[in-house]
Amino acid sequence: MTFNDLNLNNSLLAAINDMGIEKPTTIQHKAFNPIMSGVDMCGIAQTGTGKTFAYLLPILRIWKFDKSKKVTTLILVPTRELVVQVVEAINQLSTYLNVTAVGVYGGANIKEQSRVVNEGLDILVGTPGRVYDIINHGVIKTKTIKTLVIDEVDEMLDQGMRSQIKRILDELPEKRQNLMFSATINQEVEAIITQYFKDPVYIEAAPAGSPLESIKQSAYEVPNFNTKINILKHILTTDESTTKVIVFTGGKKLADAVAKQLENDFNLGANYGVIHSNKEQNHRFNTVNQFNNSNYKFIIATDIIARGLDVAEVSHVINFDLPNDANNYIHRIGRTGRADKNGIAIAFITPNDNYNKNAIEQLMKFEIPITPLPNEVLVSNILEEFEIEKVIPKEIKLKLPKLERSNPGFHEKSAKNSKVNAKRISKKDAMMLKYGKPLKRKPKQ
Ligand code: AMP
Repeated sequence: MTFNDLNLNNSLLAAINDMGIEKPTTIQHKAFNPIMSGVDMCGIAQTGTGKTFAYLLPILRIWKFDKSKKVTTLILVPTRELVVQVVEAINQLSTYLNVTAVGVYGGANIKEQSRVVNEGLDILVGTPGRVYDIINHGVIKTKTIKTLVIDEVDEMLDQGMRSQIKRILDELPEKRQNLMFSATINQEVEAIITQYFKDPVYIEAAPAGSPLESIKQSAYEVPNFNTKINILKHILTTDESTTKVIVFTGGKKLADAVAKQLENDFNLGANYGVIHSNKEQNHRFNTVNQFNNSNYKFIIATDIIARGLDVAEVSHVINFDLPNDANNYIHRIGRTGRADKNGIAIAFITPNDNYNKNAIEQLMKFEIPITPLPNEVLVSNILEEFEIEKVIPKEIKLKLPKLERSNPGFHEKSAKNSKVNAKRISKKDAMMLKYGKPLKRKPKQ
């Protein structure tokens, strides 16, 4: 199957040729005819499967030039980064077409966005909240909209955007084509389909939850945060194949703590960025750009970028912590091994992560192989304050005086590494120190 086998026109074929992509992905060839025929469609596809082009190609193939420049296609996506990415994808594919696409998202000046929208457009791409505001302020008339795409609908629903999506859907003309893409079809997604879609065709790229074959997965078992830092530093400084790395952490505070620790102990310089929801929007765009352009060797991020974000040639995804939602593991590792490239996913697993690890393995039906810690990686016996708080049951509190503790402040500089690593302790001893028994405990829920 080549792009010539799809009923594309010369403008689209030329743009695809310029991009250097050779053959359609599974979702692209499966979605093409149903979308062209005008039926409603639900695509079950993760990012990395080529789903964006899967809906853009037929939409742009059907598109007819109209000098009135009234919006005919509305594309809803969950994050600002994705808005920018989808607008870029449209611009790439329409190099030889006179299509105008505009992106709108919250956190930026609505007046300026309204002015650009007012100048006329064919395709509006936006996050639900801002799109609704634009409609509500009368900046666009919805009656010309013929096609609606809801991309990553499961992510939108997870982010609590259900009522915004519904309010937009209620504003659209009855007669329209509905397309949606989701990594999973859960009950909430199903409810939207039942209420708003007419006899949709379902197509699937790969069963949700299956580990992507192009990604080599492995894990290190470690006792605590500081040992995670040591192994992370070891990987980043000794493995030359780590050219573009995303380090996922369990939350904003942890992302900042990892950055601080690397900065303090290893002086990694300015070749990395940190991205999470407390960072300014411009900072977020800038971090992604620097990473995209390979000015940053790695970024430390939360699940805010686990889905959707498309960065070319990510060599490694490192799960500093495992996500609580097993689906997010699949999304995270899907940032690497994209579009025919091989990728590597490494997880750091403390006893606290074991519960999440089991859930992930059950979802994937695949056991993540454990790699022994390299000899030169020092096992720290120092617990950070947040680790102690998390696991302290009453009876173990009594053992605390034995522990060597780093500075209490989460953001404060920790004890120097030489001190941290002065003593190499066995895993068993580390468990003993931390939990007061050799351990196989289920973490607190
Ligand atoms: P997506 O799943 O839409 O986020 O796309 C993932 C990446 O795959 C993007 O960087 C696309 O440029 C790239 N891509 C899309 N279609 C193809 C294709 N047919 N062949 C190779 N790469 C593709």
